Amino acid sequence: MKKDNFSGKKSGTKAVWGGFGELFYKGATQVPIVNSVTFGYDNVDDWFDVAVGKKEGYIYSRNTNPTVEVFEEKVRVLENAEAATSFSTGMAAISNTLSTFLSQGDRVVSIKDTYGGTSVVFLEFLPKQGVDVALCETTDHDELEAEVKKGCKVLYLETPTNPTLKILDLKRLIKAAHEVGALVVVDNTFATPINQRPLELGADIVVQSATKYLGGHSDAMGGVVCGKKELVKKIFHYREINGASLHANSAYLLLRGIKTLELRVLRQNENAMKLAEYLEGHPKVEAVYYPGLKSHPGHEIARKQMSGFGGVFAFSLKGDFSGVKTFLNNLELAHLAASLGSVSTLIGPPKVTSHVEATEEERKALGIPESLIRCAVGIENIEDLMADFKQALSKV
Ligand code: PLP
Repeated sequence: MKKDNFSGKKSGTKAVWGGFGELFYKGATQVPIVNSVTFGYDNVDDWFDVAVGKKEGYIYSRNTNPTVEVFEEKVRVLENAEAATSFSTGMAAISNTLSTFLSQGDRVVSIKDTYGGTSVVFLEFLPKQGVDVALCETTDHDELEAEVKKGCKVLYLETPTNPTLKILDLKRLIKAAHEVGALVVVDNTFATPINQRPLELGADIVVQSATKYLGGHSDAMGGVVCGKKELVKKIFHYREINGASLHANSAYLLLRGIKTLELRVLRQNENAMKLAEYLEGHPKVEAVYYPGLKSHPGHEIARKQMSGFGGVFAFSLKGDFSGVKTFLNNLELAHLAASLGSVSTLIGPPKVTSHVEATEEERKALGIPESLIRCAVGIENIEDLMADFKQALSKV
């Protein structure tokens, strides 16, 4: 399989074969884990040529590593991007990308509902570096456009958002940002390239926590950035010096996980839809938040820009928090744990997970009810999951 042989190929094929540009060590059909920090040469001239970029090769694993490079290539192919570079975690991908493009006096526009760690970068770290940060009401597209028009170097978006799955109209906001010459960065972690490809909608850079769906098994952390060559080169430069590099062992686990990305995500889309529909009709449930439901305010936009609605949904129970505890403590087929994107169902209330540090008023302002439960559904059999939800709800 040649590296440039993917045009017209579908995601399932790209997930399996992406990055497999040549046969590896002695014909191995799987990528070797190259646990070498440094790479040696027999000849100083060759070493020099690689060091100055005249020849392909490796010098030091903080910069590039053969296993890590295959991971980057696989995600690049899946996102239909010119280039990709990787990181030790999703947060490293996000913070390094923002720091690459923003410096003192620059202005970044984003939304209030970004992932918790990203919010801290916006509220605490970037202001310390003299960057002006404007965070808008998440689905107020008019406000976002108005803030972009006031001057903006980077528009940073995330859709669907955590934990109430709000949806942003990517095409509309990308157009507004490009009119003022701003770069658009989109966190595509929840959607994955199976359900949504922001670069094809015009975004400049896509960031992802590979820890979630890309890896898919909750056993490796990583981050990845895709986009135009010249932009990714700048981000790579920042990362190679800043040092937030992906390790070859993690890259191998992520690579192994991605091969089944399409299978897993299609199953998770289906499982989430069925559970969301079931919960919407349940007398003990107050509200369900899932962009696949017609009742979701972002449904029409989601239908336009996504090919599936993802494996994460949230719902609130009638009554107080004691009902949430009863429901969760009685579930048998779910880890009560943070994170998402795993083959096994992960479930928890934002009040004790992602938004544990917020006050009740702050959660209310973000539209997060105290009895909200976020579920990142796994690939288990839907009949078993449904029966488990049913029995746990019957105890509430
Ligand atoms: N982006 C989103 C949407 C996330 O949900 C997360 C983690 O939950 C991150 C980024 C950060 O990823 P990581 O935990 O790999 O640093």
